Formats: sequence, C-alpha cells, structure tokens
Amino acid sequence: MTAAAIFDRPVDTSRLRGFVIALADLLAAARDEQAILDAGSALLARLISRDDWLPPAFARPHPMRYQQYLLHCDSRERFSIVSFVWGPGQTTPIHDHMVWGLVGVLRGVEKVERFRRNEHGALVADGEPALLRAGEVDAVSPRIGDIHRVSNGLSSAPSVSIHVYGANIGGVERSTYALDGRPTRFVSGYANGDLPNLWDRSRAV
Ligand code: FE
Repeated sequence: MTAAAIFDRPVDTSRLRGFVIALADLLAAARDEQAILDAGSALLARLISRDDWLPPAFARPHPMRYQQYLLHCDSRERFSIVSFVWGPGQTTPIHDHMVWGLVGVLRGVEKVERFRRNEHGALVADGEPALLRAGEVDAVSPRIGDIHRVSNGLSSAPSVSIHVYGANIGGVERSTYALDGRPTRFVSGYANGDLPNLWDRSRAV
C-alpha cells in the first residue's frame, strides 16, 4: 500500500456524529448563550481530546491561504461545525463573527489576538496574545468579545482547529477590519463542496 493510500484510509467519524447530536440536544435545552458556551466548550474539549476522527481531506492545508472546511451544518442552521487549517505563516484577517463561536485546537498551536475599540474607534490589543494548544478551547461572541485575529502558532507544520458557531457561519454577513477600525464586508463561504459522511451507521454493524 502506498503512503497516499494509507493517508486517505477512511476514518471513523462517529465521534463527530456524537458531537453533532449532543450539540443539537444542548441547543434545544440551553437557557442562554453562556449555558451554550459552557456546556459546548466541554463537549468540544471531549471531541478534540482525540485526534483520530477528522478525514484527511478536511485537514489539508492550502499553499497560499488558510482553509475553512464545513464539516456539518444543522438542518435549522442553528449551528455549524468547521475545520480550520493554517499552513506555516498563515493568518486570518482581523475579523468578527456576529454569533457565538467556540474554537478548539485539534493539532498544533494557534495564536489568538483579541482586539477592542479605543475611544477613537480604532482597534487595539485586548490583552496579550494567547497561544492555544491542542486540546484547548476558546470562545467568542458579540457579548464577550467578538473581534480577533488567528494565526498558526507553528512555523514549520500546519495547525488544525475545530470551530462551532451559532449559525451557518459561511453565509453570515460579517466584517474584516483595518487597525483604524474601518470594516470591510465579509462573507467567508467554505473551501469544500463535499462534506464528510457522518451518517453511515453500517460501519458499526
Ligand atoms: Fe474567528
């Protein structure tokens, strides 16, 4: 068997399916956003505690830019699950989300820089940059702080994270920002046309 064939061997996505089901249950029961962030962080931490379930096609870096692969979108578009892949040196623009979001690092290290507006409306650093390592989870939302920039924290290997958002994030109208605070309209879309098949339960039989 070639190395490529081993790399592309199908993985067991049942952990991701379980996460989708648990999130749908959580959203049906949660009283408010903080309850979603608290319980959702615990669910995401459990999902990323093992790195054996993400199909390689959704962890593939692009030579020029970071990739955003849709893994699942809720049928009511209440949430979406995305894998982000940064090659060495790759970074997002400064951007917002407009909805709650959870960021969990699956592989590698991510540098997160948070921003807030100063009295003139310009963006300034909100604390020191954070280095998130595999297994760690961060949260964003318009309520708790929604503007950040995320970069690969490794200089020689890709980093991969799993994000959950409170909408079909690829279609949400949001903004990127210049440091002077000027927004540019931004709808991210997704890098992939095909999604992982989470629903073939015959594998377990
Ligand atoms: Fe973000």
